[in-house]
Amino acid sequence: MECEYNLTRDAEREYLNLNPLQRGGILPEKTREALYDFGDGYSVCDYCAGRLDHISKPPINSFLDDLAEFIESDVVRTVHGAREGKYAVINKVCEPGDTVVIDSNAHYTTYLACERSGVNIIEVPSTDDSENKITMEQYRKTLEEAIDEVGEIKLALLTHVDGDYGNLTDAKEFGKICKNLGVASVLNCAYSMGRLPIKANEWDLDFVVGSGHKSMAASGPIGILGMKEEWEDSMLKKSPKFPKKEIEMLGCTSRGAPIVTLMASLPYVKERVANWDKEVKESRRFVKELESIDGITQIGINPTNHDLVRFDTPRLYEIGQKHSRKGFYLYEELKNRKITGIKRGQTEWFKCSTYGMTTDQRNYVIDSFKEIVEKLS
Ligand SMILES: *Cc1c(COP(=O)(O)O)cnc(C)c1O
Repeated sequence: MECEYNLTRDAEREYLNLNPLQRGGILPEKTREALYDFGDGYSVCDYCAGRLDHISKPPINSFLDDLAEFIESDVVRTVHGAREGKYAVINKVCEPGDTVVIDSNAHYTTYLACERSGVNIIEVPSTDDSENKITMEQYRKTLEEAIDEVGEIKLALLTHVDGDYGNLTDAKEFGKICKNLGVASVLNCAYSMGRLPIKANEWDLDFVVGSGHKSMAASGPIGILGMKEEWEDSMLKKSPKFPKKEIEMLGCTSRGAPIVTLMASLPYVKERVANWDKEVKESRRFVKELESIDGITQIGINPTNHDLVRFDTPRLYEIGQKHSRKGFYLYEELKNRKITGIKRGQTEWFKCSTYGMTTDQRNYVIDSFKEIVEKLS
């Protein structure tokens, strides 16, 4: 049977992909094999006795224990994404009309999860300089003021690493602040869990959420929801009518290829998390090299603590003003060099990541930018 859709993609085979969204979700070889075997719908359900998290073939039960240990959390469930994790927490902890405190670098899905749960939002502002940093002094201040103003705040959310600047926040201090003020805490680790170590209990966090397709080398869609033991009974309350099924999880969450690829990649992910320091060092080197081009500067915390980096690039914009292809030249010049992942037509700024690339690959990207600017200036 012929397929009428052209379903081919060579971005990871033929190109160096700089799109930060995609770098942490690339599957290692072994995981691709598991994807092939478990691509069929409900493929993990051959030996299910009614509870997804109890299935022992494939060993989802022991995998969840390993995952809990990996993020140092008491209890773990998979959900369909970081957003579904956040939504489940907000929906469970809060009532409609409650107010939640979040950082102003939060992902749009944090806002939508709040809107869907019918809760109001108070934002912790970031510094109004080029760093756009969320400081814990400011977080504490805003949270205290929110409690004074509203009376009770049940839940506070912090973005561990945001998707605009790649700013890493102080999770441990956040946990402490929330604990002291009697507010439940949720840390959004979409850009951190699977890249850098997460220590949910050491940081005293009530909830952590992660994203398998963002940062854990899984096909997804799949998210991770970790929680403290004390939340287990309410968060994972079972249905009176179907006593094996957890209500907030709607019975079964991620099944088939999304969870099997997450499982297959866990040993690989553990290994790369142990090498995070090296990634940060390489990311800083990459920034330094790009900043050596006049008219390119990194914004966000500098030196960076993450692989996602954002640049202001007036130099690239100026080149486009005079170029026959206008702003499209950059995308096209990069594509000719087998580099992809920077938005088409965009030259005033961009964000990118070289996460997981070899030194040679990173050097090639650096040299390509230098060459393009030199050639067209
Ligand atoms: C990508 C991203 C999300 C969304 O993750 P999903 O797993 O696709 O829901 C949420 N928060 C942040 C900070 C992100 O970068």
